[in-house]
Amino acid sequence: MTQFRKYLPPLIILAVFETVAVTLWLTKDNIFYLYNFSYIGASIALGIFLFIKKYRYARRIVQLLVGLYMLVYLGIICRENMQIEGFWYYLFTGVFEAATIHYAVAKIFGPLVFGRGWCGYACWTAMVLDFLPYKTPAGPRRKMGWIRYVTFAASLIFVAALFLAGAKDMERIMFLAFIFGNIAYYAAGTALAFAFKDNRAFCKYICPVTVFLKPMSYYSLFRVKCDKSKCISCGKCSRVCPMDVDVTDDSRKRKNGTECILCMECVRNCPVKAL
Ligand code: SF4
Ligand code: SF4
Ligand code: SF4
Repeated sequence: MTQFRKYLPPLIILAVFETVAVTLWLTKDNIFYLYNFSYIGASIALGIFLFIKKYRYARRIVQLLVGLYMLVYLGIICRENMQIEGFWYYLFTGVFEAATIHYAVAKIFGPLVFGRGWCGYACWTAMVLDFLPYKTPAGPRRKMGWIRYVTFAASLIFVAALFLAGAKDMERIMFLAFIFGNIAYYAAGTALAFAFKDNRAFCKYICPVTVFLKPMSYYSLFRVKCDKSKCISCGKCSRVCPMDVDVTDDSRKRKNGTECILCMECVRNCPVKAL
């Protein structure tokens, strides 16, 4: 029984994604949703399973499986803009498809269950940034989080302006926005990572998606918790955390709590298994 309980998290994730896959397949009468969400759910479940098996690169594997699928297959081959501009675009057209579904599942309602698991296991921007050399931040967090609201507003204004101007061939514009938007994200993310010696600086200060992710993940069902009776206050969890989370504080209001990407580095490194 204990053995089975150990594997509950990947099974729950698989069940959640399969429910979404089948529901969307049947309600939208489109089999794409079945294989799309089944593939993503299976990839994430595989990553969690490998983590339970203590495989060092479990998270990176799932990040590459999902990130490359979304960037190369959905974004470049199928020409779906899954960036935030694509979300606004489909929202304005009133179509509950592609980017709106992606946002609803991964970035708006999903975080109520799996927090910012998207950021740790699936985002194609972080998939590249996590290859850079600064796995843990070299310095303290800067007060630059306000920039995310500027980029968030800019993405909304950009798409609204296209609609107001009656732009022709919006599908093509959205595809180009996806390509150039990603190039800009990778360039800015890499430059910031080297400037601040922090791979995740882009996530902390620039990424507009965090405007959705942070408040929703506050209520996340999945959280890393600390068993105070075991903790020896060695501080190792804080030193290895890429997102500056005070993980020894169990409250939802813990410092940088909504930044946790569930990467499990703290859990892996805790010498007394208190997390
Ligand atoms: S914060 Fe943004 S860029 Fe970073 S992992 Fe999350 S969605 Fe991706
Ligand atoms: S690494 Fe473990 S023992 Fe050390 S402070 Fe964190 S929770 Fe406590
Ligand atoms: S190291 Fe722990 S607290 Fe920090 S982001 Fe990863 S899972 Fe969350």
